[in-house]
Amino acid sequence: MRRRRPDEEPYQWPVFVPRHPPRHPCQNDAQYAAGRRSTERHYESLSVWLGMAQQLATHAGLFRRCERAACRRAKRCDGRYGQDDWSVAFGPILPPCVPREPAIVDRFRAVILEEMQHLIDSGVWTR
Ligand SMILES: [Zn+2]
Repeated sequence: MRRRRPDEEPYQWPVFVPRHPPRHPCQNDAQYAAGRRSTERHYESLSVWLGMAQQLATHAGLFRRCERAACRRAKRCDGRYGQDDWSVAFGPILPPCVPREPAIVDRFRAVILEEMQHLIDSGVWTR
């Protein structure tokens, strides 16, 4: 893993803000609460996915050719698309540093899924 420069700001893990759908008139309190928990878990997983992709992009040096000057200057991937921006392939769960070439995206997907499975298997991600 790349070492942080002494003058560098600490990495800020990206956060996706949950957008809860309005309560359906047929839902009882328990159903509505379950739906909200599900939505929060979904957005949390998007945050984990993007954070892991940023870390991996930094480790792979993809910031060097990123379209964002801020990534190139910082020498790390900390860019992101808006959380609702699905105008590019894989939308906001991959940062701008990651080219949308199938071989690269497939590799990212495989590495991140493997690491997520490792985290799940280790039990650190249970509530
Ligand atoms: Zn970037």
